[in-house]
Amino acid sequence: MRVDVITIFPEYLAPLDLSLVGKARTAGTLDVSVHDLRTWTADVHRTVDDTPYGGGPGMVMRPEPWSKALAETRRPDSLLVVPSPVGARFTQADAAELASRPHLIFACGRYEGIDQRVLDEAADLMPVREVSLGDYVLFGGEVAVLVIMEAVTRLLPGVLGNAASLTEESHSAGLLEAPVFTKPATWDGRAVPEVLRSGDHGRIARWRREQSLLRTASRRPDMLAAYPDELLDKRDRAA
Ligand code: SAM
Repeated sequence: MRVDVITIFPEYLAPLDLSLVGKARTAGTLDVSVHDLRTWTADVHRTVDDTPYGGGPGMVMRPEPWSKALAETRRPDSLLVVPSPVGARFTQADAAELASRPHLIFACGRYEGIDQRVLDEAADLMPVREVSLGDYVLFGGEVAVLVIMEAVTRLLPGVLGNAASLTEESHSAGLLEAPVFTKPATWDGRAVPEVLRSGDHGRIARWRREQSLLRTASRRPDMLAAYPDELLDKRDRAA
């Protein structure tokens, strides 16, 4: 997968060199370029912002550098991702959709955001997703790109050693994952549930399923309400 990130703070994306995202880049699964938006400015001050039409506080990102940046990075198969608090809330399903794309361009807004005409023009040329991390406001889109790229990279073939982790984890199948434990069997007076040490795979699977349902019911009743009825069997309902 090819990824182009356009930002006025390229250094902010340094964590894309680390951990499993960095490894995916080294392995060639992921090809990332981070671009400084100011490369596409024409004035001596490398200006990317100006005052908002209609008045009001703050500055707005000017359309010209963005238009040039997108024209130079766009390919026939590109999808543009614009982190924004007015976007749709980013989900695991979105991560899966982005992971299936050959080329992503991320446009990191700053100040009061990017001139709307940039997004309108881009939408005539390629699919555009405005994506929000949540109902709060950040300084800029860079942190959102780091979050989205972690979620996407985990889903790329070959990145995770054990692909089963992907099917069993929270949000992959509409439920939260059951609690997890490791050694020692008793720590600080607290014992790992007996069933997990029993070696009985049927019982373990049943326990995990029940814990997953109970956790989802108590923490995310909205998720349980949206869970397809036909995926619940008699024992699930009893739990
Ligand atoms: N004036 C904008 C508003 O009220 O909707 C907020 C602009 S914010 C200060 C600057 C940039 O941070 C945005 O253009 C976007 O790229 C990023 N950003 C802020 N909050 C975000 C969120 N919840 N999710 C994703 N990106 C966000």
